[in-house]
Amino acid sequence: MTNIVLFGKPGAGKGTQADFLKIKYNLFHISTGDLFRFNISNKTSLGNLAKAYIDNGDLVPDKVTIEMLKECVEANFKSEGFIFDGFPRTISQAKVLDQFLQKKKISISAMISLEVDEEILIKRLIDRGKISGRTDDMDESKVRNRFREYNMKTSILQDYYKKQNKFHRISGIGSIEKINSRLTRLIDSFL
Ligand code: AMP
Repeated sequence: MTNIVLFGKPGAGKGTQADFLKIKYNLFHISTGDLFRFNISNKTSLGNLAKAYIDNGDLVPDKVTIEMLKECVEANFKSEGFIFDGFPRTISQAKVLDQFLQKKKISISAMISLEVDEEILIKRLIDRGKISGRTDDMDESKVRNRFREYNMKTSILQDYYKKQNKFHRISGIGSIEKINSRLTRLIDSFL
């Protein structure tokens, strides 16, 4: 199984690139942000719980997020592998993911970070919010809070995966096609 963690700040292009990669490599794409938004629009109890955190640009508590992630992996375990997009975002999420996959005799193949400067991302997110209507993209203070959360809790995961020799970085600036070919060149090199 090929299991890739797509990593990067909000707006770095993880979802856009995952849409290409899942087809090229026949992987199942899990976006925890999309799962939360699906639950919010369907007014499930999980959605109701997560809504306030997401609206403020805060991370949803680990316990809830991890449970949701595990359920999604279990339900799609027949696939040839996974693209994790937006998960893990904390050290405890990464540790639980490793233990969980180990029990299933699989592991993360690589963590790929899409690197883009914050000021470019803020503009991207505000523009995206105008089209998508995502409330957490429309307000600059919420966007900045998401970066604060990333810098405090998530960026440290680079070291976690570096220690496992699984960390790779590529530039997330340029056309979607250019970024896509950087990604596929990298993935093909370790497949
Ligand atoms: P995203 O679509 O990945 O930008 O995620 C949107 C929002 O969903 C984030 O700002 C968080 O509030 C929440 N979220 C998504 N993934 C996670 C995660 N792994 N841990 C905690 N909160 C998450």
